[in-house]
Amino acid sequence: MGERIWIFDTTLRDGEQSPGFTMNTEEKLEVARALEALRVDIIEAGFPISSKGDLAGVQLIAREVRGATIAGLARANRQDVDAAVEGVREAAHPRIHTFIATSPIHMEHKLRMTPDQVYEASVEAVRYARRFVEDVEFSAEDASRSDLEFLCRVFEGAINAGATTVNVPDTVGYATPEEYAALIRSLMERVPNSDKVIWSVHCHNDLGMAVANSLAAVQAGARQIECTINGIGERAGNASLEELVMALHTRRNHYRHETAVDTTKIYRTSRLISAITGIPVQPNKAVVGDNAFAHEAGIHQHGVLANRETYEIMTPETIGIPSNKLVLGKHSGRHAFKNLLENNGVRLSDADLQRAFEEFKALCDKKKQVTTDEILALAEGELRGTPHTYELRSFHISTSSTLPPMASITLRRGRELFTQEATGDGPVDAMYNAINKIVGLSPSLADYAIKAVTGGTDAVGEATVKVRDGDGLFIGRGTSTDVLEASAKAYLAAVNKIIHERQHWMTNVYG
Ligand SMILES: [Zn+2]
Repeated sequence: MGERIWIFDTTLRDGEQSPGFTMNTEEKLEVARALEALRVDIIEAGFPISSKGDLAGVQLIAREVRGATIAGLARANRQDVDAAVEGVREAAHPRIHTFIATSPIHMEHKLRMTPDQVYEASVEAVRYARRFVEDVEFSAEDASRSDLEFLCRVFEGAINAGATTVNVPDTVGYATPEEYAALIRSLMERVPNSDKVIWSVHCHNDLGMAVANSLAAVQAGARQIECTINGIGERAGNASLEELVMALHTRRNHYRHETAVDTTKIYRTSRLISAITGIPVQPNKAVVGDNAFAHEAGIHQHGVLANRETYEIMTPETIGIPSNKLVLGKHSGRHAFKNLLENNGVRLSDADLQRAFEEFKALCDKKKQVTTDEILALAEGELRGTPHTYELRSFHISTSSTLPPMASITLRRGRELFTQEATGDGPVDAMYNAINKIVGLSPSLADYAIKAVTGGTDAVGEATVKVRDGDGLFIGRGTSTDVLEASAKAYLAAVNKIIHERQHWMTNVYG
């Protein structure tokens, strides 16, 4: 039988470099917990030298998430390695991941180092990292555009210095599957002691070949794949975890290798990442897109009704898509509500559960039928890391074809109520202006989107807003059967995060 393929998830590090991406520490922990439940082998939790916030995130994950190896990224120098050690020190299984670029263009223009200097720095960084941890990964950035002789020399040096995993990134997404497989094969043949380490791949998706390249590398002998949930990451993103895992799973007759991933957690994790980052999944995305299992065209639908296997190579259950029948209603209790969430991998604190349950009850008053998707969307608004400084108490909006829209908003903060009125270019703008007056902030709106969670005119609408405050980008989500209410809740969620962040900053500076 086949061998074990190690899944190295870098959603929290490479994924975090996506444009418009932002997560607070609590949200990062939430993601790491989901990755642990998904049973990935290694979680790259961040790049500790890059900021205090990143270091704190890695430390928190290292302390709390015990079921996976926790990796911290470091460039090939002592300060970076020291910061990474600081980050992963308390992990059950710590890994230091150090890297340096080996391609002529990177060495000359970015690093301004000679090949000899790059070689020395790699060996020295690996040797230094091994003083602190047993598990050290070395990456040759831009490996696919590096000189093969030099690459062999650097990997040989890193392995002799104690690297336990060596990674061959296609940093710019330039490789083709055949070339990339040949590269992995030559490296494994030519580098002495190559059988003593795990060979790893890290592919970017600039030409849409990240998954194909990774799988070609596996067939050539690579045993670790670096990837992200929903394929998020810099530029066109990274190889997507769900596509890799499902290709290996569905076509195990062809690949003959296994991962430890619990495929039934894939859908849930994909939704969580999308909810937290505000980056939607395209409808036709393989495996996790909304249409991946939909059979709307008449001829396909007919085939599927007769026998699912006519058009389905995987079942929705395999990746954990909830069957969207009506499960709960007006008479469902808190216990049933909590059970439904837990069966779908959502665990909330008691206070958050209570808040979500109250929202669910309010929803049942407006809507007879509540689906699993709607309940999940509602609960995702109450995830850890969502502060509730201000809550929406009530609103009133008047619009007409002749007068500018006018909004009156009442918010609650603790026991106090605040009401303000404002006009705007449209009803949503008027509401946001009224909220700004109450909270005393005026962040700029970077993005606003609204979508129906399920079909039907009484469907729950889900609003997502991104607002900018200084350098920070904050994402808020809100759900309601009323799109204006969903819009107000989403904006308020983002504003609450700004307030939380500012208080946090004040405590760090003064407290
Ligand atoms: Zn990358």
